[in-house]
Amino acid sequence: MDKLIIPVDISMKVLYHVNEKFPEESCGLLAGFDNKVTIELPITNQLHSPIKYFMDPMELFKALEKIETLKLDLLGIFHSHPKGPPNPSETDIKEFLYPGVATIICYPESNEWKMKAFLIENGCYTEIELVMF
Ligand SMILES: [Zn+2]
Repeated sequence: MDKLIIPVDISMKVLYHVNEKFPEESCGLLAGFDNKVTIELPITNQLHSPIKYFMDPMELFKALEKIETLKLDLLGIFHSHPKGPPNPSETDIKEFLYPGVATIICYPESNEWKMKAFLIENGCYTEIELVMF
C-alpha cells in the first residue's frame, strides 16, 4: 500500500469522533477496497486514557465481522494523539499487529484536527500519501 484514499465525509466523521472523545485517545478501523476507504468503524478505547489506547475486544471483533460481511478489506487503524506527536509512537510501533494495514494518526494542529497515514514495518514507520477528496 503506497497511499490511502479517503472521502472527505468519512474523514470528517473520524475527526468528529476524535474531537468528541478528546482529551481521551480515540481509535477505530477504516475499511474499503482498492486502497479506498468506504466505511469508518469507531471503537471504544477501553483504557479511556489521553496517552494510550486499547480497542475494546468485543467491539473490535464485531467491527472485523462487519467488514467481512460487507466483503471489504481492513485498510487502516486510526487513533488520536491528543497531545501529539503527529506520527506513530514507540509503543504504536512495538504493539502493531496488522502487517500491511495503514496506521492513521489524528492530531491537533492550530485548533484543527489533522490526519496522517503511515505503514509500520520491521520496527519503523514510513508516511504514505493520504488522498482526501
Ligand atoms: Zn499512538
